[in-house]
Amino acid sequence: MALIVQKFGGSSVKDAEHVRNVARIVTDTYNKGNQVVVVVSAQGDTTDDLIEKANEINPKASKREMDMLLSTGEQISISLLAMAIEALGYPVISLTGWQAGFVCHTNYGNARIRHIDADRLNAELDKNKIIIVAGFQGVNRLDDITTLGRGGSDTSAVALAATLHADCCQIYTDVDGVYTADPRYVKGAIKLNEITYDEMLELASLGANVLHNRSVEMAKKYHVNMEVLSSLEDKPGTKVKEVATMEKMLIKGVAKDDNVARISVMGVPDEPGIAYNLFSLLASKKIDVDIILQSIGRDGTKDITFTVPESCMLNAMTVIQENKEVLRISDVTFNTDVAKVSIVGAGMQSNPGVAAKMFGALSEANINIKMISTSEIKISVLIDKDKAKQACNVIHEAFFPVEA
Ligand code: ASP
Ligand code: MG
Repeated sequence: MALIVQKFGGSSVKDAEHVRNVARIVTDTYNKGNQVVVVVSAQGDTTDDLIEKANEINPKASKREMDMLLSTGEQISISLLAMAIEALGYPVISLTGWQAGFVCHTNYGNARIRHIDADRLNAELDKNKIIIVAGFQGVNRLDDITTLGRGGSDTSAVALAATLHADCCQIYTDVDGVYTADPRYVKGAIKLNEITYDEMLELASLGANVLHNRSVEMAKKYHVNMEVLSSLEDKPGTKVKEVATMEKMLIKGVAKDDNVARISVMGVPDEPGIAYNLFSLLASKKIDVDIILQSIGRDGTKDITFTVPESCMLNAMTVIQENKEVLRISDVTFNTDVAKVSIVGAGMQSNPGVAAKMFGALSEANINIKMISTSEIKISVLIDKDKAKQACNVIHEAFFPVEA
């Protein structure tokens, strides 16, 4: 007997027909003699709709009340799915995050899971019940509901799998796995049979919208076997694991992130401590800095250019402007018409020429690179936003040529 955690995203439970389909998948798994714990997200666009409702009433609503509101989306899904499973004649129980024992930190809207108190879960499993848990939520030490950040149900599922020592954690969605690029705009994108945690983590953080990146981080930490698969087609998906054995590919994927802005501070003194002052100020405001480029000093001054998430741009500009004198900056500019395009793959560590291949594809398409950053398993470039989709296509074509 295996213990399987299955997570279904909002698109997989968007209406009655989809809920019944999920009930069939869950009960089929149960019928094979497995214990099944299910996590569901809010139906379809429910979370967005709830945010809109809140904005109509108070665009500056407190995060506590936002969490109170947003957590209801998942509560609707768990009860409906449990009803669909009841209708098929199986023992089932739905549990909200706090009923399932999710104890979270207090930061509303983006809480981390402290631990899961699994007593109730184990008791229900002992009664042979299928358990349906509300994703994306828990309770903090003040007994308030906190949510885990957008897309957080994936993380709920992996946390349950880790706590219950599940044999696997299946993430069901409306695509049939992880692709080498977004098939919606990249011709010839290929489905991967497997990918490593590290590669998936990079792809998830670099803009591939498949998995919540904290879920992958957690899966890596607790050795949870994950699989991303389709709730609409019965076929194998993509396995996420420690080492990928089957395919030795140079790169595993191309991703783009449009949510970036570039900030340049100009004419700062070319002396020790300047970068420290600037970036510690940004860090104190919790502004995430990504690619950093510093020019060679001339006439005793230099320029520092860096990227931040577009959503943090105004904040970053405000703190820099307010501290212009202290930081001894002569000028600061920003640009939001940029995008970050990245390639990811453990294979690039042992194969020279990967960067050259990527840059060659961009050069041939006449796409200018504004900034570059690399790590062991990724290369990112900053380019004009309106060229981002084209860039993904030409880079993908260079690494995965479509056979004529
Ligand atoms: N319903 C939440 C959201 O839309 C959580 C999730 O879907 O994972 O972000
Ligand atoms: Mg999701």
